[in-house]
Amino acid sequence: MSVQIRIERVGKTYFGAKGDHVALNAVSLDVERGEFFTLLGPSGCGKTTLLRILAGFETATSGRVLVDGVDVSALPPEARSINTVFQHYALFPHMTIAENVAFGLKRLRRPAADVASRTREMLELVQMTALAERRPTQLSGGQQQRVALARALAPRPDVILLDEPLSALDLKLRQAMRFELKRLQRETGVTFIFVTHDQDEALSMSDRIAVLAHGDVQQLGTPEDIYSRPANRFVAQFIGDANLLKGEVIGVDAAGQARCRINEELIVLASCDDALVVGQEALVSARPEQIRLLAPSDEGAAGEVRNVAFMGDSSLVELAVGEGVIRVQTSGETLRELGLAPGSAVRFQIPPLAARIVAGQ
Ligand code: ATP
Repeated sequence: MSVQIRIERVGKTYFGAKGDHVALNAVSLDVERGEFFTLLGPSGCGKTTLLRILAGFETATSGRVLVDGVDVSALPPEARSINTVFQHYALFPHMTIAENVAFGLKRLRRPAADVASRTREMLELVQMTALAERRPTQLSGGQQQRVALARALAPRPDVILLDEPLSALDLKLRQAMRFELKRLQRETGVTFIFVTHDQDEALSMSDRIAVLAHGDVQQLGTPEDIYSRPANRFVAQFIGDANLLKGEVIGVDAAGQARCRINEELIVLASCDDALVVGQEALVSARPEQIRLLAPSDEGAAGEVRNVAFMGDSSLVELAVGEGVIRVQTSGETLRELGLAPGSAVRFQIPPLAARIVAGQ
């Protein structure tokens, strides 16, 4: 793979009468050709601002954007081979579906025969051929989203930017569209840069994810990296809502694993990247689904059930442990076997290496 888009120390400050607002600090990222790349972060983290700078709708205050090694920072949107799909589709209501898809091709003054054949091909790709003569208002949200994708893909752009394109759809359709988007990206080979605040969307579709917060990249990696090896406290909590437990390092081995004492009974073996010294404080991240609940007679740390929330395929159990609370995700079967209800005594284990030491206090 080769680098297609280089974001070089891009900063953005919005200057206003009531004060200035820094939306992006110096962000640097490389996106490779043919990648499904996601910008993931909570509301206000700067992801839409970064996407708009890539598209050319917004100018960076500092830094630059290179496409295939060429600085495009000063180019208007139409001079970049980058198309955007917005959250609300922005289809033209007075045009048919086929006319919407053909729009970009006609604007590029492609010969009529090419426009017709490419439009047909794109409608087939998104499985909308049967509805080609309808108008956007006669389509469901999911169908409109497909047309918006077909319209964006029709002129064969090098890159497609997608700004929360699934957020207006209901849950079931959103999940179906994840597969659809991934298929479209694979079949066309076009680079997708996808913006979302939804971690499940990001984890399920992306080749790589950049987690953004407060205008900075918190972590860049594959979904597996981000999920299993969160770089800091923010990523650990934002992805999968991990428990963060304060402890003391009581042993370190050569393989980069640390033994941490959380309380008198709870000692966990956690992986870590940084060199640690015995005696220092550490923050241990442990995901609710990785903690195992056991009977009171088993070996493990003691806790008391405070709350149980039924979630369908699993349940979330809140345990009072010493002064703190630990959340555990468990199966209905375990709940029944252990007879857990608020007030029950329980034991639990954080399996070796299900825990990780993260940066941050
Ligand atoms: P969301 O998911 O809510 O859209 P986001 O991560 O996409 O959030 P941005 O839209 O990039 O965030 O905004 C980043 C920050 O910059 C926010 O605090 C926002 O209020 C601010 N901001 C965005 N656009 C402007 C503007 N035109 N003028 C002033 N501040 C702005």
